[in-house]
Amino acid sequence: MNRYSEIIATLALTLIIATLPGCAKTLPSQSEFVLGTICTVNLYDQGSPEVYHQIFDRLREIENRMSANLEDSELDQINRMAGIRPVVVHPDLIDVIQRALYFAEKADGAFDPTVGPLVKLWSIGSDDERLPGEDEIAAALSLINWRDIVVDREQGTVFLERPLMRLDLGAIAKGYAADEAGRIIRAAGIKRALIDLGGNILALGEKKGGAPWRVGIQNPLDNRGAYFGIAEVRDKTLVTSGIYERFFEYDGKRYHHILSTQDGYPVDNGLLSITVISGNSIDADALSTSLFVLGYEQGKILAESLDDTEAIFVFTDMSVHCTSGALEYFTLTDTTFSLIQD
Ligand code: AMP
Ligand code: MG
Repeated sequence: MNRYSEIIATLALTLIIATLPGCAKTLPSQSEFVLGTICTVNLYDQGSPEVYHQIFDRLREIENRMSANLEDSELDQINRMAGIRPVVVHPDLIDVIQRALYFAEKADGAFDPTVGPLVKLWSIGSDDERLPGEDEIAAALSLINWRDIVVDREQGTVFLERPLMRLDLGAIAKGYAADEAGRIIRAAGIKRALIDLGGNILALGEKKGGAPWRVGIQNPLDNRGAYFGIAEVRDKTLVTSGIYERFFEYDGKRYHHILSTQDGYPVDNGLLSITVISGNSIDADALSTSLFVLGYEQGKILAESLDDTEAIFVFTDMSVHCTSGALEYFTLTDTTFSLIQD
């Protein structure tokens, strides 16, 4: 049997989890549309319907708190009170906002959770998506600054200092949700599970028999499910940010959903996708977006500065570049791409 025919299970829209035959599981996987995407969980060994239930309840709770699109989510309340008053929110939301602020600082504002006005202006992936005017982009950019978020942990409040500011946690909330699903699974005593929240993958434990999980990484130029390489991991998360996830085309040009906080347009720096492999999913999610916006040179420096963090950068010229430790996990399988070791 060759490497490819070993791969029998496809889980993800953007990433494919590969398992070997004989990896018997006690329950089928469960998928639901939540957090704006298809979320699939595979529990192995002692998985039970009750644990699936707890996980999906938790994912919905996170969505209800952190969605920028759901009217009356806690995040929406913070946004509506921008420039008016602080809003008391659940500690979960404070945790995620504080982690977002940590990465906003690390990425020097390339990642910025106050990107909301720009995200709303473009509305990429929704019925309202459109190419905005220069003046509208300038107005949205003037509202973006992570330093204008005031978090008061003691009071449990968040305040956006200027009217019309708007938080958007689309680049980090799914990572938090994957970590939370992982926490529930571990607390239930389950040692092996695969969580796929629309391409945010958390692979807990290892395959039965002790081999690592094999995760296919989406080919950014091909159909969903087609992968250009495989990562072999145990207890790791893989998160990809790419131009193929949400976009529209206008006048022959693609406009995707990862936006530059410098010029207000979809980031156009030669990258097609970037995948982060690390130990926790909230960080990997924030970083996948941060590294994409920062681009290869600065992104690689940031990734190399962090513990337990590797990244795979895929470029429009079909080259693939990695951080120094990534090849411990990653193998290129599609030879239309070329791996450049620099
Ligand atoms: P991801 O797929 O994790 O890279 O996240 C992309 C999502 O994050 C977008 O759909 C927006 O909601 C949001 N976003 C876009 N650009 C940025 C940015 N520069 N900083 C933070 N969040 C962003
Ligand atoms: Mg992200």
